[in-house]
Amino acid sequence: MNVFFPALRDGSSAPALRFGDRALSYRQLGAAAVPLAERLGGRTRVAVWATPTLETSVAVVAALLAGVPAIPVNPKIGASELAHIVADSSPDLVLTEPGALLPDALAALPRLDIRIGATEQAAARETDDRNAVGSGAESESDPTTEPNVPAPHKVPVLPHEPGDEAPALIVYTSGTTGPPKGVVLPRRALAHTLDALEDAWQWTADDVLVHALPLFHVHGLILGVLGPLRRGGSLHHLGRFTPEGVSRGLSGGGTMFFGVPTMYHRLAAEVGDDPALAEALGAARLLVSGSAALPLTDHARITAACGRRVIERYGMSETLMNTSVRADGPPATGSVGVPLPGVYLRLVDEAGQVIESDDGDTVGEIQVCGPNLFVEYLNRPDATAEAFDGGWFRTGDMAVRDSDGNYRIVGRKATDLIKSGGYKIGAGEIENALLAHPAVAEAAVTGEPDEDLGERIVAWVVLAPEAASPSADELSDHVAHQLAPHKRPRTVHFLDALPRNDMGKVLKRQLGG
Ligand code: ATP
Ligand code: MG
Repeated sequence: MNVFFPALRDGSSAPALRFGDRALSYRQLGAAAVPLAERLGGRTRVAVWATPTLETSVAVVAALLAGVPAIPVNPKIGASELAHIVADSSPDLVLTEPGALLPDALAALPRLDIRIGATEQAAARETDDRNAVGSGAESESDPTTEPNVPAPHKVPVLPHEPGDEAPALIVYTSGTTGPPKGVVLPRRALAHTLDALEDAWQWTADDVLVHALPLFHVHGLILGVLGPLRRGGSLHHLGRFTPEGVSRGLSGGGTMFFGVPTMYHRLAAEVGDDPALAEALGAARLLVSGSAALPLTDHARITAACGRRVIERYGMSETLMNTSVRADGPPATGSVGVPLPGVYLRLVDEAGQVIESDDGDTVGEIQVCGPNLFVEYLNRPDATAEAFDGGWFRTGDMAVRDSDGNYRIVGRKATDLIKSGGYKIGAGEIENALLAHPAVAEAAVTGEPDEDLGERIVAWVVLAPEAASPSADELSDHVAHQLAPHKRPRTVHFLDALPRNDMGKVLKRQLGG
């Protein structure tokens, strides 16, 4: 039998999940998820209303055990995007926390409320098995069903788990470059990525992840929830991100923190003036950033204040994790590290030729091959076919590789590569240069058509509060001085905020990029 969560089979009393002050041990998680998995038998696909809760985690674990593909849905999603996802994925059931008010497109489907019985008090270990009241699922349409309460001491029997190629999750991409696409992920890809990260991050059952990410994308759900559970460790979800929450989570037993760059940006802004936060970050075993590039200034501020480096990893919905800076390797700051075990990467130039050079300067598209890859885009055979070059997946991300094998992402092919005056210029480099100016809090760079240059570099800047306001020329001069004259922004727009999606990624198409 292919056991996805060995610790669940063992049914130990070790902590598994904690959301706020509600928590479940592995035994309690099994008691909640196994009966639910049994009730999911015969379903084709289930949508999960993915609030940051115990219920969402239990629902996804149960779907995995049952072999029924789960579609995590962003609970703040707009009506038209939701209608698209529901029509595209046609779930036959919605799993939700009790009392959730569902929007029309989901309210029209059969619904199963996840009812979790008694939970442990925050972080307290199970001390008395008689208190370990199990949990079960109860259907609204069948209100007479009693919650399933297994006998004390009895470890629930796991159902026979499905095969490696069975679709486990359908995750919609973040919609950064266009409408979200449904990515069909087999169990094999999930297992491979989580086991490769075990190696790269030396991730063990002793690790406690401090978590503040949403649960409807790869980062928060697969790495953040399924990751600790596959290792037999635990997670502590803060509900929402705040630097104080991270500080408390890490000083209260957390060993790792996974965040997106917008979170690290806030930590970087506050860590210098907050000794408790500096101490907590300094004591963490691992600080990991991903989903978008972490600006060099934020790396530098965090390391200066707490002595720790932030590790970057690079992945996507379609490939799960491709590369990471290794916990046992050199810092490689500013890069996304080396390919994970079993994953192959290559750089390909515009003519379709593989780039052999490791000079850290020759830009090509990253293509990936390995057991971490998805099966297909749901209902999009053309898009799936277009995404592959033989067995290699075209990521659309542009990068260089140095002689140590580290990849540095320069941006996305579609929005971040600016062809100006015969040069190919990565937006990220200019964004980093702008962020190095003391008055700049946030920066995004795009290209606009230009008769002379082909494209002209345009900067979109949010100024730091209380900073003296530099002129557009001053900022352009600053970039030209730091980098090179041809990398000078020709236009600088000042904004109150950059348009970002729920992962904090800048929506460049809304900036005209
Ligand atoms: P869509 O495909 O709908 O436009 P998306 O590509 O943002 O959205 P995801 O699959 O969630 O959706 O994100 C994957 C992308 O995130 C990668 O292709 C890459 O551009 C970016 N990314 C992830 N990690 C990093 C990183 N460490 N540094 C830079 N970019 C990253
Ligand atoms: Mg994408």
